[in-house]
Amino acid sequence: MATKNSKAKETEMTVEERLKALYDLQSVESSIDKIRTLRGELPLEVQDLEDEIEGLDTRMGNLDAEIKNLNDAILGKKNEIKEAGLLIKKYEAQQSNVRNNREFDSLSKEMEFQRLEVELCEKRIKEFTFELKSKKEVADSSRQLVEDRKGDLDAKKKELDEIVGETQTEEERLMKKSEEIAKSVSERLQVAFKRIRSNARNGLAVVTVERDACGGCFNKIPPQRQMDIASRKKIIVCEYCGRILVDSAIGGEEK
Ligand SMILES: [Zn+2]
Repeated sequence: MATKNSKAKETEMTVEERLKALYDLQSVESSIDKIRTLRGELPLEVQDLEDEIEGLDTRMGNLDAEIKNLNDAILGKKNEIKEAGLLIKKYEAQQSNVRNNREFDSLSKEMEFQRLEVELCEKRIKEFTFELKSKKEVADSSRQLVEDRKGDLDAKKKELDEIVGETQTEEERLMKKSEEIAKSVSERLQVAFKRIRSNARNGLAVVTVERDACGGCFNKIPPQRQMDIASRKKIIVCEYCGRILVDSAIGGEEK
């Protein structure tokens, strides 16, 4: 039985071995935390690109609407010119049937007014056409930009999928390793480890002594206590934060 074996193994374990196991467990759990944090941020990068493309699409939509408005305006002015031309023809015909000079002059004035209208329309068409040309240029370059960004997004999505896939494999491997190490320590220690870890802000339940201080809360540790920790004869927790303390040398002792 696996549990029986691990139980037997555990009773054989020295305190030093248990401390080392706890330290290793912490290292593995920290690596898993790191992967989960990283993976948590990846979708945000894709989201940013998607937002940017959406913004560009909106801009494109606005430009297309403006271009359509300009085309409509040009068409409207062309129609006005046509109507003015018809009126001028009508007045010309009427002029040959006038009874007096006053009527003739009045029609001449109307014709002159329509000719001015035509000139004004032509001027407007010129302006609109110029505006249209520059809008079309902006639209074309925007369209190109959207295409480029969409290409970026596809590449990024693919890249992120791969990273997610890779980190999942790595996470599974680490979780298996964590389980194996956890099996080697007592249930009581496992529970304590989990409890301290869930209470700690950075997920650290086991910390080393760094520069005479607790590596978790940075409170100073008295020299006598440091010697006790370094002797690895019993499990010592930080009196301030409750984390399990190990001497920094334990981390360098890779098996
Ligand atoms: Zn502490």
